[in-house]
Amino acid sequence: MRVSRENRIYQMSGQNPAVATVKPGELVVVETHDCFTGAIKGEEDLFSLVGWENINPATGPIAVEGAEVGDVLEVAIEKIEVAERGVMTTAPGLGIIGDEVKEERTTIIPIEEGQAVFSDRLRLPIRPMIGVIGTAPAQGEVPCGTPGPHGGNMDCKEIVAGTRVYLPVNHPGALLALGDLHALMADGEVSVTGLEIPGEVTLRTRVLKGRRDALPLPMVSNEEKLMIIHSEETLDEAVKKGVAKTVKFLQEVCSLDLDAALRLLSLVGEVRICQVVDPLMTIRIELPWSVLNALGFSAADL
Ligand code: CA
Ligand code: CA
Repeated sequence: MRVSRENRIYQMSGQNPAVATVKPGELVVVETHDCFTGAIKGEEDLFSLVGWENINPATGPIAVEGAEVGDVLEVAIEKIEVAERGVMTTAPGLGIIGDEVKEERTTIIPIEEGQAVFSDRLRLPIRPMIGVIGTAPAQGEVPCGTPGPHGGNMDCKEIVAGTRVYLPVNHPGALLALGDLHALMADGEVSVTGLEIPGEVTLRTRVLKGRRDALPLPMVSNEEKLMIIHSEETLDEAVKKGVAKTVKFLQEVCSLDLDAALRLLSLVGEVRICQVVDPLMTIRIELPWSVLNALGFSAADL
């Protein structure tokens, strides 16, 4: 099954009609636009001319057969292919120190042999990741540029090929949508763009029946660690709420009391920033599978 990038949305909502229906386990290739819907074609095309209505499209939504309200959707990312060049923009008012930026600039960065050509002096190995991936939110509509409990614009650089993303099913079929690929992005995304690029994501889905309210969603898992993601208006609040839901989860799955779960988190739970430039701030808490396994919880329990 292939889902064309022409099927795009700018808001995640239970009201969006599904553009495709897939079976759990079925291989799905999802084409994605870059975060400018392809409107920036050269360095003369400035961010301010793109128009907010063209910012942050997601391809979808895709309905998954058998996904019912209260389930969890697992999305296994098998492959992320990106185009031969990406775009970055800086502009007054954009990003963490937008007040210091004097004029708007668009920079095209070619990708050659798996490396982003940053300048004559510097090439950086790419690590393609998915900025926006989510299901329809429980209530109302959420712009694709905003992260939340449904996923969305989490800009978690760990969502790469080989990872699994866990999202809530709030509407029949889950209504999965994704986009905003980055060929490369660092934690923080401080300029407000990663290396923005169109591409194709190959994935498979699985439905975890009735687990939505038992797991600290959204989550991402790879071979080494389980990552619990949380977004709030401030980083402080995101850390507080993220820690609280992780402690509660550890108490349940590892049979720990609150004090022990907190001690454990303080020793091995890496609290990291995903991004600080979207309408809500996003953090992740990374738990090593080796520790969870020792306490009796494994990836097979998901
Ligand atoms: Ca983003
Ligand atoms: Ca982006």
